[in-house]
Amino acid sequence: MRFLCDCMLGTLAKWLRILGYDTLYFKFAEDDFLKSLSEKEERILLTKDRELFEKCLNSYLVNSKEVKGQLIEVVNRFCLKKQESRCSVCNGELIKVSKESVKDTVPPYVFKTNEIFFKCASCGKVYWQGTHIDRINNFIEKVFLDRDCE
Ligand SMILES: [Zn+2]
Repeated sequence: MRFLCDCMLGTLAKWLRILGYDTLYFKFAEDDFLKSLSEKEERILLTKDRELFEKCLNSYLVNSKEVKGQLIEVVNRFCLKKQESRCSVCNGELIKVSKESVKDTVPPYVFKTNEIFFKCASCGKVYWQGTHIDRINNFIEKVFLDRDCE
């Protein structure tokens, strides 16, 4: 299942990538562009725009104003599960890399206190376990507590 978020749903797109779903997002895009991309790549268009929703067959109208509610809506509607995360910045795949290989890339403190590192295959951003991931996991756990599909 792949997604495409409209211009108002950038934060939701980031979270869907963290959940591991291939999600495209454009800060500026015409409705027609989103509609045809959704058809061409068979992506579910997530939108807050009722007009766009009605124009586009494969779309879902997001109701919530805040991101937690939006994520819960989408997780329930499409029965999403937590998969291997993708890059939250560019949607690229994350590859596990050796600790040594990121020595010159990450801050010394991060290097000293972490063992597991991932690198985005597209933009090269490095990810590691630690407080940031813990915060993300807490948020996702809360979302899945409110999940009501199997
Ligand atoms: Zn990336």
